[in-house]
Amino acid sequence: MRVAVDMDEVVADAFPAQLTWLTERYGYAFDPVAYCGRKLAEVVAGEHHQALQAHLHEGSFFGDLIPIEGAKAALTMLNEHAEVFITTAAMEYPKSLPYKFDWLQRHFPFIDSLRFVFCGDKSIINADYLIDDNARHFERFGGEGILFSAPHNAGEQRYRRDSNWSEALALLGLA
Ligand SMILES: [Mg+2]
Repeated sequence: MRVAVDMDEVVADAFPAQLTWLTERYGYAFDPVAYCGRKLAEVVAGEHHQALQAHLHEGSFFGDLIPIEGAKAALTMLNEHAEVFITTAAMEYPKSLPYKFDWLQRHFPFIDSLRFVFCGDKSIINADYLIDDNARHFERFGGEGILFSAPHNAGEQRYRRDSNWSEALALLGLA
């Protein structure tokens, strides 16, 4: 079994870090209900979203994220039962590549770095499963997409989903 695993919102807790960045600079008091099923661009002022995007494009943001709860233990276990590839659309933020590479080596040293796949369009990925928070990557994916729950994908109904890594392992028949 080969399993492709996304980074942001699946193993790296990128969304809360973006909220924190916006709160610290612009004083947002985010209401979780306000961004459920919506993109951040829809709930913050345009200039603030642009500033956040500029920050993300600088790259270092991605080197300082907290791993998603349970991800390390789950990938340790998954790595014993499957070929695990980390597949991230890093080309959306090209300067994030060295930071993402270092982050993966630091937090997931048990995954061979030759299985880190920095890509853009994930339809190139050939795996049995893709665990990702963005359903758009499943539309042309040959295996089964498993949606990792995140606030922005709350309304998505087309795919099996998990709310955390315990549920993800269960969907793969490993828990
Ligand atoms: Mg993601």
